[in-house]
Amino acid sequence: AIEIRDLHKSFGDLEVLKGVSLTAHPGDVVAVIGGSGSGKSTMLRCINMLELPSSGEIAIQGEAYGLHPARGGGLEPIDPKQVQRIRAQLGMVFQNFNLWPHRTVLGNVIEVPIQVLGVPRDKAIARARQVLARVGLAEKEDVYPSFMSGGQQQRCAIARVLAVDPLAMLFDEPTSALDPELVGEVLSVIRDLAQEKRTMILVTHEMAFARDVASHVIYLRDGLIEEQGPPEQIFGAPQSAHLRQFISSVV
Ligand code: ATP
Ligand code: MG
Repeated sequence: AIEIRDLHKSFGDLEVLKGVSLTAHPGDVVAVIGGSGSGKSTMLRCINMLELPSSGEIAIQGEAYGLHPARGGGLEPIDPKQVQRIRAQLGMVFQNFNLWPHRTVLGNVIEVPIQVLGVPRDKAIARARQVLARVGLAEKEDVYPSFMSGGQQQRCAIARVLAVDPLAMLFDEPTSALDPELVGEVLSVIRDLAQEKRTMILVTHEMAFARDVASHVIYLRDGLIEEQGPPEQIFGAPQSAHLRQFISSVV
């Protein structure tokens, strides 16, 4: 499980996360919704150490991350190698794909297994071909990202995460940079992964999709979880007036 306890994050004077706690058990699909600036991306970035929390605790598989209080307050990582492994184990899919532009599709997918996890090159390539086939990119392994559509690039980014067989996948609005006609192909890949019970935390503006695939929904507002529960409750019988307003504004 991934456990987050009382996560706080400030940028200077701006307190963005004000004490967020959540647990994702194996197979959970946690959807995170909330308005712009509510702290959704910051939360994901803290989970895989792209940002360091100001305070709080994050544990994977019962083991708290190697963070310790820095002299000036806040937390800092103990071991850079551990940071790399955590990022690999909690693979992130970004809104803007973030593929390495000077590497082919295959090159993008084998990089972390070889460089971070020490997988032998031939094994990494075999695994990469499997996951590329899964996301419908078997024919594209020698292509550079800029020659692909946004939907293809995002599917490549998903394959790159899958290649590691991560503990959990973190998605930050994976379809919001896509042309409308390309959204479906990416959602369908994510839906497959959810159905095979891959643990994921998914920040999304796609409410119908969240309702459909999530096992648990979190509504973040102004750095705090204002309401959470099963999708039927969150979308069908929201308690918070802010949540009701948010849902009616995005649907
Ligand atoms: P959106 O739906 O627009 O993606 P979000 O919920 O993901 O919003 P965050 O990106 O987490 O929101 O940002 C929360 C707040 O933190 C915003 O006010 C943002 O400007 C601020 N913020 C985020 N990253 C930084 C940073 N590196 N330095 C300073 N402020 C930041
Ligand atoms: Mg965001």
